[in-house]
Amino acid sequence: MAVTDSRRRIEVDRHAFLEYQVSCPYCGAKVGPRAATREHLDVPPNPPYAATVKCPKCGEIFEVLFRS
Ligand SMILES: [Zn+2]
Repeated sequence: MAVTDSRRRIEVDRHAFLEYQVSCPYCGAKVGPRAATREHLDVPPNPPYAATVKCPKCGEIFEVLFRS
């Protein structure tokens, strides 16, 4: 299995993500909806909303959890 990397899952304000104010935890590039490769509804508890993001600059893939 892959080594656990805490940067692989970040918790952000949903509005900040939509406004491209969230930085990639690997290279610091701003990421937003266009960097999302998948959005999903299966992260408990509420609100169940998160996205898989691939950084357009460094190519790292990480999970973005939206806090309410
Ligand atoms: Zn990056």
